[in-house]
Amino acid sequence: MRVIENYVNGEWVASKSTELLDVVNPATTEVMARVPLSTAEEVEMAIQAAKGAFSEWRETPPVTRARYLFRLRDLMEDEFEDLARIIVQEAGKCIDEARGEVRRAIENVEVAAGIPSLMMGYNAEDIAVGIDEECVRQPMGVFCCIPPFNFPFMVSLWFAPYAIACGNTYIVKPSEQVPLSQNRLFELIDQTDLPEGVINLVNGAKGVVDALLESPEVRGVSFVGSTAVARYIYSKGAANGKRVQAQAGAKNFLVVMPDADLERTVSALLTSFYGCAGERCLSGAVLLAVGDVYEPLRDKFVHAASRLQVGYGLDESVQMGPVISKKHMERVLGYIEKGLGEGAKLVLDGRGIKVDECPNGYFIGPTVFDEVAPQMAIANEEIFGPVASIIKTQDLNEAIEIIHANPYGNASSIFTTSGRWAREFKYRVRCGNIGINVGIVAPMAFFPFSGTKDSFFGDLHGQGRDAVDFFTEKKVVISRWF
Ligand code: NAD
Repeated sequence: MRVIENYVNGEWVASKSTELLDVVNPATTEVMARVPLSTAEEVEMAIQAAKGAFSEWRETPPVTRARYLFRLRDLMEDEFEDLARIIVQEAGKCIDEARGEVRRAIENVEVAAGIPSLMMGYNAEDIAVGIDEECVRQPMGVFCCIPPFNFPFMVSLWFAPYAIACGNTYIVKPSEQVPLSQNRLFELIDQTDLPEGVINLVNGAKGVVDALLESPEVRGVSFVGSTAVARYIYSKGAANGKRVQAQAGAKNFLVVMPDADLERTVSALLTSFYGCAGERCLSGAVLLAVGDVYEPLRDKFVHAASRLQVGYGLDESVQMGPVISKKHMERVLGYIEKGLGEGAKLVLDGRGIKVDECPNGYFIGPTVFDEVAPQMAIANEEIFGPVASIIKTQDLNEAIEIIHANPYGNASSIFTTSGRWAREFKYRVRCGNIGINVGIVAPMAFFPFSGTKDSFFGDLHGQGRDAVDFFTEKKVVISRWF
């Protein structure tokens, strides 16, 4: 069985760890590889490699640093389809969803390649007679990234290209559930001839994360994952003097107003609730149907959801794949039980769905609860699966109150043809990403991937200019010549 290796100081290295986990294809349940939980010594080797590479890399002109990213981008384009297939196999997505993930990853590399202008500072002459002042951005040293399972390829690329473009050096610790596409990414990185140690890969789980958080050499951490772990990483990282940006969990509410274009709204809702089997921090979770739209919306939504084709994502006709693991499947099924126990009405039951070609896969069909009350667990807690809850509200005000009562603040959307309602929604709702007739509010690579409340810990977000600010510190120089 293939054992995944680490990539340290420009070389592939086998971990000496005796702790190995299976990497399982969630559709076929085939064990595709084994991933080591690397030791603290191995983490230290990666940190030392990154530290050792820093001084020469920071002195490399940004325009030269950008050229490596252009090379990486070309290699990613060449391997586009292969990368997408690996994502399907390790994470259970549909092939088109995986292609979307690779595309956004490439876009981040492209945006980061604009570093010569992104990193420019600013200056002013004559702040006093004969005195000038300038502000420059400088790289800081070693940074690292701890991504989640649900976008195994893309998430590290919300950060790493910017970090190294800014002149820092880097360590990625992939999710131990899905290390294969990161491994392939590093094979491509290896082909760019990036100087040794500039970017490193260490496989593992909590042990590796703790070693990174405890190292005085690591200047900052980018985390994406659940809220409980985000809180832990934010407080431990900060206590150890690091910059931390921690993008966390979500419970996203989608509001449909009585004047919405129902056909197009339902199509957008389907992608939002059931795309990536609901395992997306931007997925719809609760549908807030305002006033008269409730009945026709519910009927059309349930009908359309019941027709989604569930199966193995390598089949181009499949619209929804499995959830990531048996453990996660049981957790989602547990929420369906909980919803029933709380008195919600199960109007579409995805339990027990059979996929002939993958009889053991971790499949749950599209599921819809109606007559959900805002205080129920299914309406409040992150399920991270293909389960929708419908709540009827009297007006937009009541819908916004329900959204605000929830602790998360990642994304929220309104569907309407009224500019006045849309404006009120975007102005009042406290969420980091707002959609107007858009069900998945995924910011482009040159916008920050936002989030508020329990969905984000820190101040500077991933992607674009926020990333450049996170990965640099500002230095002000005031000069006078006698
Ligand atoms: P997770 O928190 O379990 O794991 C994320 C990462 O943290 C992994 O690399 C894992 O190895 C590591 N980790 C897990 N437990 C740890 C611990 N106790 N100490 C230190 N490190 C630990 O999250 P997941 O299940 O992989 O991903 C799903 C979650 O990610 C969902 O909550 C989803 O909403 C969230 N997510 C958020 C965003 C966003 O931008 N806000 C994007 C994608 C996913």
